[in-house]
Amino acid sequence: MVNETLMQYFEWYLPNDGNHWKRLADDAPHLAQKGISKIWMPPAFKGTSSADVGYGVYDLFDLGEFDQKGTVRTKYGSKEDYLKAIATLKANGIIPMADIILNHKASADHTERFEVVEVDPTDRTKILTDPFEIEGWTNFTFDGRQKIYNDFEWHWYHFTGTDFDAKTGQTGIFQIQGDNKGWANNDLVDDENGNYDYLMYADLDFKHPEVVQNIYDWSDWFIQTTGVGGFRLDAVKHIDSFFMKNFIRDITEKYGEDFYVFGEFWNGDEQANDDYLENIDYGFDLVDVKLHQNLFDASRQSEAYDLRQIFDGSLASNHPQSAVTFVDNHDTQRGQALESTIEEWFKPAAYALILLREAGLPCVFYGDYYGIQGDFAQESFQDIINNLLDLRQNYAYGKQEDYLDDANCIGWTRLGDDEHKKSLAVILSNKNASHKLMFVGKKWAGAIFTDYLGHCQESVSIDQEGWGDFPVEAKSVSVWTC
Ligand code: CA
Repeated sequence: MVNETLMQYFEWYLPNDGNHWKRLADDAPHLAQKGISKIWMPPAFKGTSSADVGYGVYDLFDLGEFDQKGTVRTKYGSKEDYLKAIATLKANGIIPMADIILNHKASADHTERFEVVEVDPTDRTKILTDPFEIEGWTNFTFDGRQKIYNDFEWHWYHFTGTDFDAKTGQTGIFQIQGDNKGWANNDLVDDENGNYDYLMYADLDFKHPEVVQNIYDWSDWFIQTTGVGGFRLDAVKHIDSFFMKNFIRDITEKYGEDFYVFGEFWNGDEQANDDYLENIDYGFDLVDVKLHQNLFDASRQSEAYDLRQIFDGSLASNHPQSAVTFVDNHDTQRGQALESTIEEWFKPAAYALILLREAGLPCVFYGDYYGIQGDFAQESFQDIINNLLDLRQNYAYGKQEDYLDDANCIGWTRLGDDEHKKSLAVILSNKNASHKLMFVGKKWAGAIFTDYLGHCQESVSIDQEGWGDFPVEAKSVSVWTC
């Protein structure tokens, strides 16, 4: 078995040139060679415009094929390019994964009149007004697609809420009224703001059987049309977890357990993650938000951060089988909604902390690998990530021994397995140059270890009992192997 590695193949500020699917296809052989086994592709659906990153989704059945919202292609290219990129990834042994947005729909074709109550944005269970009529953007007819693939039309009663009254120009959080209407049950969505069912745009009502049926119809069409091998589920804390559990269970029953799914449950709270995983019967994995927050804190607080806490409360610690570990993503990069970018000095250590450990499926961020251009530019960490990917592919196997024993300097070793016999020792410091005595295996007695990352120039000889005294530079990371 070779270690699996996921890559998020986009960042927020990619150029709107319609060439990204082509870039991905061209890059596939290189990615495979680096040990990338799964690619999380950006959303492929027609959004509010060609510039939409993909989360303002308009039509799930338009993958860049129909003239809608002023464009045929999406930001990333045409449907044909998307299908080609998927086929090329598969030909290179990489599983292509689609980012799917089921929480909301944006940019409806027509307005409709219906009754709402306005709720308190900070407590959506608190109703502020008597019912009144608004004119909302809730009628989706997809005129440019002309009912090809699917003839469903969306109306106000398929949604729980919206945020704009076209009649008065008033904005607010408007909960749609009617039979069996209201937010998802409090136990099934995040409890921030009282009930966090509503995030943005027109919010899908998963209590409505026609909505559930349409999403099932769409998923069959989408998986069979594209051949994707998995999903990244957007914004799951805003979606009825009962629906999500059943939906993913049914998909994996139909398309096989290898159909890999993970969700964006953006909540660092331990209990909330425990509860959510239980609610969905551990049916899909979750991004490790707490680990990201710990990495962010460590990068910000520098030597004041106690590195012994780096995995505290993380999914990698609590639910290693369900954790997708990551350093940054399209929301945490600079200038974005959840901005919490790991500071540059700590990025190499952060990538060592996800790529060389036993727990979790690590995800490499496109913006870290290729750099980010523009107002929120960031340098590329491709060289160091390549080294860490080589180590992950060839060395990071077998028993893990932890030395998470010093506030400013921690380390661990991997002792190898039958197929990957080499050992490695990782050491990182957030303060002074330091060193640590670590065990790499008795069979390496007398062997000479060097720093694969090249940060330390000296060599370390392993003693008769299989231990080495491994150094690290100040605020740095080294990975020792032979
Ligand atoms: Ca929702």
